[in-house]
Amino acid sequence: MKKAVTGGCKCGAARYRGEISNVSMFRCYCRDCQQLTGAGHSEMFPLVSETFKLSGPSTEYQMTGGSGRSTWSRFCPTCGSPLTRRSERMGQCVYVHASSLDEPEIYMPRRTLYDEAAQPWDKPDKVR
Ligand SMILES: [Zn+2]
Ligand SMILES: [Zn+2]
Repeated sequence: MKKAVTGGCKCGAARYRGEISNVSMFRCYCRDCQQLTGAGHSEMFPLVSETFKLSGPSTEYQMTGGSGRSTWSRFCPTCGSPLTRRSERMGQCVYVHASSLDEPEIYMPRRTLYDEAAQPWDKPDKVR
């Protein structure tokens, strides 16, 4: 598998690159991910925080996660594409939304989170 990846938002103003972390890729069905993606779940691809570089404009929104600690969602202020999620709890990783990758086909979810919060129209599938 590749070591580093690149990606960005729909309009192209925000671009990022970073090295792939070895923590697992996951699909998350929590309510935050539903609201932030406009879909039934998110597809999260982990990069190593200290290698992550973002260029161009972006806005970061702070929330309180299920653990009671801070989580952040970064998006492009022009086109609104969700770019990253990070959290106090998992500081070693920056998660990018898999569809924002230049090669989204390399994403391979290994587990699902918050299955109990899934909407009836988007029930968790088996992951590979
Ligand atoms: Zn954009
Ligand atoms: Zn989530």
